[in-house]
Amino acid sequence: MALSYFILSRFSPASELLIALWIGFGASLAAANADTWGTELGLLNPSKPVLLSTFRQVPKGTSGGVSLVGTLASLGGSALVGVAVGLQASADWGHGGDVRPFLQFLVITGSGMFGALVDSHLGASLLAIYFCPTCKKKTEQHPLHRCGNSTEHLRGLMWLNNDWVNAACTISAGIMGLLLAILLN
Ligand SMILES: [Zn+2]
Repeated sequence: MALSYFILSRFSPASELLIALWIGFGASLAAANADTWGTELGLLNPSKPVLLSTFRQVPKGTSGGVSLVGTLASLGGSALVGVAVGLQASADWGHGGDVRPFLQFLVITGSGMFGALVDSHLGASLLAIYFCPTCKKKTEQHPLHRCGNSTEHLRGLMWLNNDWVNAACTISAGIMGLLLAILLN
């Protein structure tokens, strides 16, 4: 998004797509921050999170597990980026007046939450999960567990590790932000 913005601004500085790319960029960052805050601060939730696919309780830190504190923390993380990017609201975008920066903030924060939801959903369904027979524990680590022994595939797509889930999180939020920005302009 940032690179497209840079290139387009050189060749077509008046393009209406520029602000949409800017908002998409903000949404992408918002999603990454929502994911981080949700994961780290979600540990403070008094009870265990539930898995987004089965709604069964899972240990804290499990990919795809959601909790109230984690979700609120995600919202805070997304909104922080939404405020920062929203303050840079372009005069050329939206319905004008005082609504524009607020709408830009809403689009970025909402798209960031959408990305975090995609992240949690993939983490609960298709993410590759392995089993360490030595520690008798589920893990995302492959081919070797942190104990040094090799892990066995338990469920999920073999190639879909946490890096791909994070990529899906930020890309889906970026596209959502870009589309909403074009739609609402
Ligand atoms: Zn192990």
